[in-house]
Amino acid sequence: MTECIFCQIVEGSAPCHRVQEDELTLAFMDIFPLAPGHVLVIPKEHAENLFEIEEVSLLAVTRMTQRVAHALRAELEPDGIMMMQLNGAAAGQTVFHHHAHLIPRDEGSALAFHPRVRGGDAELTSLAHRIGKSLG
Ligand code: 5GP
Ligand code: ZN
Repeated sequence: MTECIFCQIVEGSAPCHRVQEDELTLAFMDIFPLAPGHVLVIPKEHAENLFEIEEVSLLAVTRMTQRVAHALRAELEPDGIMMMQLNGAAAGQTVFHHHAHLIPRDEGSALAFHPRVRGGDAELTSLAHRIGKSLG
C-alpha cells in the first residue's frame, strides 16, 4: 500500500470528508482546519508538489479550486478566501502530495497557523455536504 496519505484518500483506503471530485481531482475538508470551511484540492495522480505535477493535473486542480471557491463563498459567505499552496519542507509543506488550500477568512480574524485542532467529524461532514451541494 502507498505510504502517501493523500493517495490513500484517493484510493479510498483512508477516509475523508469529500466535497467534490472529477476525473483528475478530489476536494475534501482539511482535518485540521485553519478556519471552518478549510478545503484541500488535490490531483488524483501522485505528484509531490508544483515542480512535479503534470500540467493537465495542475489545470484540473486550478479549475476545481475555483469551483470550490465559488461554492465556499456562496455557502459560507466569508469576507475573503485565502488560496495557499506550499512547495518543499522549507516552505512549510508537510504532506508531499500536491494540494491547494482554500481557507475562508473574515475581517479581523487573526492568521493563526498554530496551534491547530482536529475538526469535529459532524461539523466537517456538514460543511462537506453544504459546499458539495452548492457545487451541484
Ligand atoms: P501542507 O502544510 O502540506 O500545505 O498541508 C497539509 C494539510 O493536510 C494540513 O493542513 C493538514 O491539516 C492536512 N492533513 C494532513 N493529514 C490529513 C488527513 O489525513 N486528512 C485530511 N483531510 N487532511 C490532512
Ligand atoms: Zn500521493
